[in-house]
Amino acid sequence: MILILASDIDTGDAEYKRLLEHLDNLPNVSHRVHREIGTQSVVTEIYLIGDTSGLSENDMNALPCVERVVRVSQPYRVLGRHRDDHRPSYFEYQGLRFGQDTLHVFAGLCAVDNREHVEQTMRAVRDNGLQCTRMGAYKPRTNPYSFQGHGKDCLPYVFELAGKYDIRVIAMEVTHDSHVEEIREALEAAGNPTGVMLQIGTRNTQNFELLKAVGRQQDYPVLLKRGFGISLDESLNAAEYLASEGNRNVVFGLRGMKTGMGDPHRNFVDFAHVPAVKRLTRMPVCIDPSHSVGTRHASPDGIMDMCHVTAQGVIAGANMVLVDFHPEPSKALVDSAQALRLEEMPMFLEDVRIAREAYLQRAQLVGGNAA
Ligand code: PEP
Ligand code: MN
Repeated sequence: MILILASDIDTGDAEYKRLLEHLDNLPNVSHRVHREIGTQSVVTEIYLIGDTSGLSENDMNALPCVERVVRVSQPYRVLGRHRDDHRPSYFEYQGLRFGQDTLHVFAGLCAVDNREHVEQTMRAVRDNGLQCTRMGAYKPRTNPYSFQGHGKDCLPYVFELAGKYDIRVIAMEVTHDSHVEEIREALEAAGNPTGVMLQIGTRNTQNFELLKAVGRQQDYPVLLKRGFGISLDESLNAAEYLASEGNRNVVFGLRGMKTGMGDPHRNFVDFAHVPAVKRLTRMPVCIDPSHSVGTRHASPDGIMDMCHVTAQGVIAGANMVLVDFHPEPSKALVDSAQALRLEEMPMFLEDVRIAREAYLQRAQLVGGNAA
């Protein structure tokens, strides 16, 4: 059960103390307070954990400071969509809204290789009207002898150039909690010219200690990639780990599954789950066509498979597209086979625009609100 308190509650207030006292005395029920400090107001929610079946919604509604009561009907307490749950399905970061009703394209390098390529990519991102990019500095690799990213050494020029090209948010994978501090220090040293969305990769979806560490900080939102060999429920629970530690600014990323039957693609594309994740949770949903498809092959209609699956995800309501571009794909140190060329960015974005328009029309057709 979730108690949603009246906005801007003062935790020093006598009424608030009375409420906590009452909750402390409930048998076999513990509680956890979550406070969300937004730009407009502070939202306080109290999660009741344990045997709440005997609690009446009316009684709980009558407690001091309580505005609304939501009975948890999904295992994902914080991020799930429960019955009569009107909590928001968006968050704001760096002046941008990330929600189940918005769409952002994060086009950029799978892995940072050198300053020149970062600059060329960011210039193209800016010139194509985008404000977000992807820049991998810490790369988890299957083969221990493969290039694993430049790590913190590349952060100073990545952040400096992001400032130069008005990039608001960079998606960047972290594979260890120390990377969050390295990113924080580098951002501060550069004068905070941009923001970072921390990415948890598919190989770390169930790295619970990493999830807890990243969930404990609330400065950076998180893009959690679905685990490529586990159930959707397990991956949604992984997202809930982040939220249960305090960070609910989470985007859920679909990137294809290792089924052994994905060929001719790198992974079996799972973008049909975009609407399912939006139904089960309040998270915006990202699709990653690059890591799903993994090649630049095109069908006889001339459209690349990567563009086809992007359109399929967007027409189903995806809220974010994470896609690999490179100035010279053949020279990319990681995933060169799947990078799009910078000259292809206008075509890619126009294709996304067409699919988004079609999605909005489809939602209108059934009287929905695309949110
Ligand atoms: C990536 O986005 O660079 C990446 C490694 O993705 P995934 O974790 O989905 O393989
Ligand atoms: Mn990659």
